Amino acid sequence: MNYERIKEKLEILADAAKYDVSCSSSGSKRKNKNKGLGDSSGMGICHTYTEDGRCVSLLKILLTNVCIFDCAYCVTRKSNDIKRAAFTVQEVVDLTINFYRRNYIEGLFLSSGIFKSPTRQWKD
Ligand code: SF4
Repeated sequence: MNYERIKEKLEILADAAKYDVSCSSSGSKRKNKNKGLGDSSGMGICHTYTEDGRCVSLLKILLTNVCIFDCAYCVTRKSNDIKRAAFTVQEVVDLTINFYRRNYIEGLFLSSGIFKSPTRQWKD
């Protein structure tokens, strides 16, 4: 496994996912100053609430920011000149399970651009 490439993909695809404003902590950013506690970033891990009121952490990423469409409002649109990346299914599974085992997250928030068609998503 190429960890540097996985890390690069994670940076690109977690950053691209921050525009899905659907979690209670989406977009919030706070830098740790003067040896304070905690630090938050606008991307990567977000929070949501379960039906019974628990707050849970989710790994929030895109499967890919490659997209065949060109929606004007979307950062992932094909005409936008940005760095592109795509996870494999196995990479998403490995990242999610490994973060879960380390107790960083309790779930996955997965969204995606569209590789080929809305009904044929996985890159093969
Ligand atoms: S189809 Fe979705 S991901 Fe692709 S450009 Fe439109 S809004 Fe963005």
